Amino acid sequence: MVGDTPALEARYHMQMFRRMPVTLVRGEGTRVWDDQGRSYLDFVAGIAADSLGHAHPGLAEVIAQQARTLLHVSNVFYSEPQAELARLLVEHSALDQVFFVNSGAEANEGAIKLARKWGINQRDGAYEIIATNNGFHGRTLATVAATGTPRYREPFGPQLPGFVFVDYGDLEALKQATTDRTCAVLLETLQGEGGVNEPPEDYLREVRAWCDERGILLMLDEVQTGCGRTGPLWGYQVAGIEPDIMTLAKGLGGGVPIGAVLAKEHCCVFEPGDHGSTFGGNPLATAAALYVMRQLTEGGVLESAQARGEHLRQRLAGLEDRSPAVAGQRGQGLMRAVVLHHDIAAEVASRALQEGLILNAVRPNAIRLIPPLTVTDGEIDQATDILERVIAEVHASSSAS
Ligand SMILES: *Cc1c(COP(=O)(O)O)cnc(C)c1O
Repeated sequence: MVGDTPALEARYHMQMFRRMPVTLVRGEGTRVWDDQGRSYLDFVAGIAADSLGHAHPGLAEVIAQQARTLLHVSNVFYSEPQAELARLLVEHSALDQVFFVNSGAEANEGAIKLARKWGINQRDGAYEIIATNNGFHGRTLATVAATGTPRYREPFGPQLPGFVFVDYGDLEALKQATTDRTCAVLLETLQGEGGVNEPPEDYLREVRAWCDERGILLMLDEVQTGCGRTGPLWGYQVAGIEPDIMTLAKGLGGGVPIGAVLAKEHCCVFEPGDHGSTFGGNPLATAAALYVMRQLTEGGVLESAQARGEHLRQRLAGLEDRSPAVAGQRGQGLMRAVVLHHDIAAEVASRALQEGLILNAVRPNAIRLIPPLTVTDGEIDQATDILERVIAEVHASSSAS
C-alpha cells in the first residue's frame, strides 16, 4: 500500500491536522524512514515525546515483556509498575505523591480539579486560576479554557469560567490579577508551543515568593519541559524553585502515552471517588515510563542530554552573524528555537524536510529543535549544517522575489 496513506487519510480521517507530506514507517535512534525508503534526522521526536529515540531496544523489550505479562487491569487493583513509577518520580522530585493519566491535557485537567478542590476547601471557596497568554495546556474543554490562545477556545461555545490571563513574564500583572478568588497560578517553566519563550531572569522565583505570600498554589505544567528536556530532570530546577503541583506527559513514556500529576502533601486533597481514569497508569504505560525514567536517572541519559544541549546551543551561537535571516536563538537544554527576522519558518521546515531533516515551525518566525535526549553531537552537527544551508536558500529566494 506504499504511497496510499495520504489518500486514505483524506477520505477517512477528520481533517484536523496540518501534516507534513510524508508517511513515516520506521525509526532507529534519531533517524526515521518514510514509505519510499527515504531517511530523515528527526529533530521533532514526536513533539518531544520520543525521549530515548526511536525503536530503543531496551524500551522495546520492556514493552514486549509487559505485553506478554499483563497489559491492563484498571485501577480497581494494585499494580506493581505503577507503584514503582510513583516511588521513582517522588524520590527524584520535590513532590510527595502522584497519580497517572494518559496525556498532557488530562494531567492538566486533573491538576486543575485538584487545585480547585484545594481552594474551595482550604481557601474559602477560591477557584480561580491565573494562567498566561501564549501558554499551552492542552485541547480538552478545561485546558483550552486555561490556554491563553483565543482561537483554540472560541469555536467551542461557553467557556469553563475561572481562568484569568496575564502576560508571561509580567510579575506586576500577575500580582494585580490575584484576588480572594485565586487558588493557583498555572505556568510553564519555558513556554513550549507558544514559541520556546524563556521567562525573564528571576520571574519564576518571584512568582513562587508571591504565591507563598498570598497562600496560593504554584502549578507548573512540565508536560514539555519535564523529564530532562531543559537540562536538569525538571524545568523548575533551572529556576531553583519548587512547585506545589507539577504535570508531566510528553517525554515520560518515551512515546507510550502516559501523563502524571505530582503534588506536595499539603495539596493532595483527592479522596476515593473524586477523580479517576480507566487506563491511567496501566501496567504497560508505567512499565515503559519506569524504564525511561531509570535510563534518565541511572542510565546516564540525563547527563548526556545536558552535554548535547550545550553542544546544540554552541552550534547555533553566532548564527545571526553568519546568516542575515536569523535574529538569534532561545531555549534551554534540548528545547531550543532559532528565531528568524521574517515569517519564513514554515518554508524553512518544509525545505529542511526535503533535505532529510525534520523540524517544526513553532511560530511563523521561529524553528523549534527538540531532538531525542539520546541525540549525538554528530547528528546535531549534521542537523545544524542542513538548517543553516536551508535558511540561506529560503532567505535568498525570498529576497530575490
Ligand atoms: C503538549 C502539551 C500539552 C498537551 O499535551 P497532550 O498530551 O497533547 O494532551 C500540555 N501542556 C504543555 C506544556 C504541552 O507542551
